[in-house]
Amino acid sequence: MRVVLAQPRGFCAGVIRAIDIVEEALAKFGPPVYVRHEIVHNRHVVDALRAKGARFVEELSEVPAGAITIFSAHGVARRVEDEAQARGLRVLDATCPLVAKVHGRGRRYVAQGRVVILVGHAGHPEVEGTMGQIQGAAVLVQTERDVDALSFAPDTPVAYITQTTLSVDDTRAVISALERRFSDIVGPDIDDICYATQNRQSAVRELARIADVILVVGARNSSNSNRLREIGVEAGVPSYLIADGGELDAAWVRRADLVGITAGASAPEALVDDVIAALRRLAPVEVSVLPGIEEKVEFRLPAELLRLPRAAAA
Ligand code: SF4
Repeated sequence: MRVVLAQPRGFCAGVIRAIDIVEEALAKFGPPVYVRHEIVHNRHVVDALRAKGARFVEELSEVPAGAITIFSAHGVARRVEDEAQARGLRVLDATCPLVAKVHGRGRRYVAQGRVVILVGHAGHPEVEGTMGQIQGAAVLVQTERDVDALSFAPDTPVAYITQTTLSVDDTRAVISALERRFSDIVGPDIDDICYATQNRQSAVRELARIADVILVVGARNSSNSNRLREIGVEAGVPSYLIADGGELDAAWVRRADLVGITAGASAPEALVDDVIAALRRLAPVEVSVLPGIEEKVEFRLPAELLRLPRAAAA
C-alpha cells in the first residue's frame, strides 16, 4: 500500500503557541493551572496536558479565586474577560493572534456604524467568542440561505467577517450572496480564513487528485479537520475523519492502492504516525510526502510569561 502525506498538515502556529502557553505556565507557576475549554480541539493534547497538571473547565466559576487561568486558542467573549477580571484571576490569553485580529476587525466595523455579519458555524467556541467580542452588534450566517433570510434593508451599511477555519469555497459563495444582497458592504474577502486553514485545504485538494481514499487525522469537534474531510468528499474521494489509529476501519482501505493522509491544525504528528502504524498492521506500507508549502509562521508567547524565570513562585 502506498501512503502519501499532505504537506502542510497538522499543527499550526496558533495551536503550538497555545500548547506552549499551558506548558510554560505549568513550568513557571507549577500545577494546577486552569484552562477554559479544551486548549485546542484534540483529546490527546488535552489528556497529555491534564497529566502534567492542567485542569480543564468550561466556566470560570469552576476556577478557584486567584488561580492561573488560560483562555483557549479559540478566544473568548468580552463577558468572560470581564468575569475573570472581576474575580481577580491571573489570566494568560492563548487566543490565536489570527482570531484576535478578526475580533479587532469586527469592533472597528461596529465603530464605523456598520451592521456586522459573521460568517461561521453556530455553537463553535470561536464564533461564540467573536460574537461576544462584538457585544451583540453582530448577526451570524452559515449559508447562502441564511443570507436570503436576513431582514435588513438592501442599503443598510454592513460589514462581514468570518470564522478562521471555514471552507474557502463555501465562504466565497456566502460572501458573493452578501455582496448581491447589500449595496453598501465591506469585508476582507476570505482573508479572515487563516493561512493554516487555507494551506491545509489546498494540500488536501492536491492529495485528492491522486488518492483512492483520504484519512483526515483530527477530532470530531475540530472545525478545520471537518472541512478537510468535506473537501476530500467534494473531490469525489471517500474521506474519513479519524482521531487515531484505533479508529481505522480496514474496510475503508481494503481496495486502495494509494491512501492519502492529512491532519487538522490541532492534531499532533504522533497521531499521523499512529494511523500509519495501524495501516502497517494491515499491509506493507510505503510512505512519501507530497510536495507543498513549508510554513514558517511563529507566534510569540505572552510577554508576562516570557519575563518569568522557570519555576518562579506565583
Ligand atoms: S487554525 Fe488558524 S486561527 Fe486557528 S489556531 Fe491555527 S493559525 Fe490560529
